[in-house]
Amino acid sequence: MTAGAFTYQALPMRVVFGPGRLADLHAEVSELGLHRLLVLATPNQRTLADRVAGLLGDRAAGVFAGARMHVPAEVAAAGRNQAREVDADGCVAIGGGSTIGLGKAIALETGLPVVAVPTTYSGSEMTPIWGITDARRKRTGRDPAVLPRSVLYDPDLTTDLPAALSGTSGINAIAHAVESLYAPDTSPVIELFAEEGIRCLAAALPAIAADPSDRDARSEALRGAWLCGACLGATTMSLHHKLCHVLGGTFDLPHAPTHAVVLPHVAAFNLPAAPAAHAALCRALRTDHPARALADLATAVGAPRSLAELGLREADLPEVIEQVLAQPYANPRTPTHGDLDALLTAAHSGSRSR
Ligand code: NAD
Repeated sequence: MTAGAFTYQALPMRVVFGPGRLADLHAEVSELGLHRLLVLATPNQRTLADRVAGLLGDRAAGVFAGARMHVPAEVAAAGRNQAREVDADGCVAIGGGSTIGLGKAIALETGLPVVAVPTTYSGSEMTPIWGITDARRKRTGRDPAVLPRSVLYDPDLTTDLPAALSGTSGINAIAHAVESLYAPDTSPVIELFAEEGIRCLAAALPAIAADPSDRDARSEALRGAWLCGACLGATTMSLHHKLCHVLGGTFDLPHAPTHAVVLPHVAAFNLPAAPAAHAALCRALRTDHPARALADLATAVGAPRSLAELGLREADLPEVIEQVLAQPYANPRTPTHGDLDALLTAAHSGSRSR
């Protein structure tokens, strides 16, 4: 493509943002013309889901608190069945990427609209990307039907997100923005979103690690997560997301901590071949060495350092490499088998990226 040319497809997304705005949920679903909502959550956010059902009042049709990481196919089927049984006309997904992913999996087959209330920084709420895991393989795809109709961001809902998960979830968000900066379909709008999203999160995450109840930092982090999620929704992801997809889908590694371990290694590999992304990251992170700054940020928020800590065996690395090499994807540098081996060996042992 000619230098400076781009295509930008805006997604039809309504965003409601601010502390205390959960109180506006009833008005939001009324605005969308929804009357019988199934509230989705994980088992450990059941109390919050019940509170949401209370706020919805006569517009609540039930609660399904069975969401699980990476949307197992049987969980998606159970959610769909309950939606059918209670005759739901939409879902409110309150939680992290796992719960929002369940809402999307239900939407994919039933067409039921999703209203998302994110409580982590995963960014899933801003994307038309769905994922379902069956027989150790995670299938993903893009479908406009799964894009939430409305997203209600209330930073007050994130103050009980544990410090460790706040840090790794925030780096998961940063990873979306980093890869959007060197995506083949990046654009000036996305570059603005990415740089500002990374700046917000890099500033807020250490403050949250020091004091998880810091409401200003929580607002800034969630604003960053929104922008980074929009980057994910609008562009094609590369090597980093491919690696994390295989590590999560096949080896069941926890999503956000895996991103936090892998990102500095992929940044060190890719950024020398992506000068504009490198420059944007230098500005956003106020550094001359973005890969190192990302590793320092991961350390500052107490993220795990190695894939070994997350439960991956060294003997699993060849299968990861095989899966990553099996399907081509856009990346600023084409990694060889040897490159992937070196990158994954370093990420596995937790040695610092250069
Ligand atoms: P998660 O949704 O699995 O949440 C992790 C745990 O934290 C859960 O037990 C959850 O109940 C709990 N939790 C969430 N918010 C909390 C809060 N505020 N207070 C206390 N506990 C809270 O984790 P995640 O990292 O948000 O999401 C990971 C999943 O999302 C993965 O399956 C990933 O593939 C998917 N994802 C999808 C997209 C997409 O665009 N489709 C984008 C990002 C992530």
